[in-house]
Amino acid sequence: MSEAVMGEGTRAVRAGLPEPVKNEPTLPGPVFAAHFHLPGEVSGPYAYGRDENPTWTHLERAIGELEAPGEDVETLVFASGVAAIAAVLFSQLSAGDSVVLPSDGYQVLPLVRAQLEAYGIEVRTAPTAGDAQLDVLDGAKLLLIESPCNPGLDVCDIRRLAGAAHARGALVAVDNTLATPLGQRPLALGADFSLASGTKQLTGHGDVLLGYVAGRDTAAMAAVRRWRKIIGAISGPMEAWLAHRSLATLQLRVDRQNATAQLLAEALRERPEVTGLRYPGLSDDPAHKIASQQMRRYGSVISFTLPTRARAERFLRALRLVDDATSFGGVRSTAERRLRWGGDDVPEGFIRLSVGAEDPDDLVTDVLRALDESDR
Ligand SMILES: *Cc1c(COP(=O)(O)O)cnc(C)c1O
Repeated sequence: MSEAVMGEGTRAVRAGLPEPVKNEPTLPGPVFAAHFHLPGEVSGPYAYGRDENPTWTHLERAIGELEAPGEDVETLVFASGVAAIAAVLFSQLSAGDSVVLPSDGYQVLPLVRAQLEAYGIEVRTAPTAGDAQLDVLDGAKLLLIESPCNPGLDVCDIRRLAGAAHARGALVAVDNTLATPLGQRPLALGADFSLASGTKQLTGHGDVLLGYVAGRDTAAMAAVRRWRKIIGAISGPMEAWLAHRSLATLQLRVDRQNATAQLLAEALRERPEVTGLRYPGLSDDPAHKIASQQMRRYGSVISFTLPTRARAERFLRALRLVDDATSFGGVRSTAERRLRWGGDDVPEGFIRLSVGAEDPDDLVTDVLRALDESDR
């Protein structure tokens, strides 16, 4: 059966598996090797562990099959999502170039911006909503999109932005962390790179840091690969193997978590103390229209605002099934008052809540009870 016609669940459980070998495991175990036997001339795929590792190869094939089923894309895994973002930016840009970043993206982007500027690269930013990045594309070499963006959950029209960027000769990278490849396929929407933090829903157990870049353009990907070698931000074999093992349940987790997120968002909509509720799956969410055109699932993250910082803190303390922790996408629900980190442009009472794989009724009940208790 060809990959292109398989269902997504089938693809997820089989992704990246090697041809069966008698008496060998289905998914070969992690290969722990700093170096490989290399008699004579340097040849063959595996020579030194910073450049290549067979455990990465299997995982990279798996992610490529999910990001672009039936297509020939190259995927490179990294030590973290930030390593993947940095690899694309710093491998494609040099002094004198201009780049467009989202102004409301991942909280490390301002630090990345300062570093790009220190290297003589001009950085422009615009918000994700309303395709505002369109207005600052002229003369840019690269556009980085984050859709849905974290933590505001705005969505932009990836196909439209990619078309406009390409018309100006710019490359396009999309941070696909929130959606996962089962929620959105940026390469099919016209992006040159789909990159993500695998730390979140892709691996989903809160026990692995990982990042990846997938792309079709051979020259551009060669530069990303070269950057990985120079900077050495590589994934450990154990992490890569855990990630691959977790991909088998990706569709199960994503479907469960996203369905519960939809239910919880609908329950939160009824609460008077909740304002600024955002979930792209809600039919009246400002992102819903464009999200339903380009996404196949709306994600596991909900954001909303409680009236005060104190109320938000009482709410978080009252939760029993939701851990007060950062990150998102894991099988155990988490929530946090985002402004405790500083950085994001959000209100004091802003909560980012990541829906896990608990029974939907248990979770909704816990959240509504914690809202009631936090009122006292
Ligand atoms: C978490 C996150 C990252 C960074 O990933 P790490 O694996 O923590 O380095 C990048 N982009 C988005 C949208 C994220 O949520």
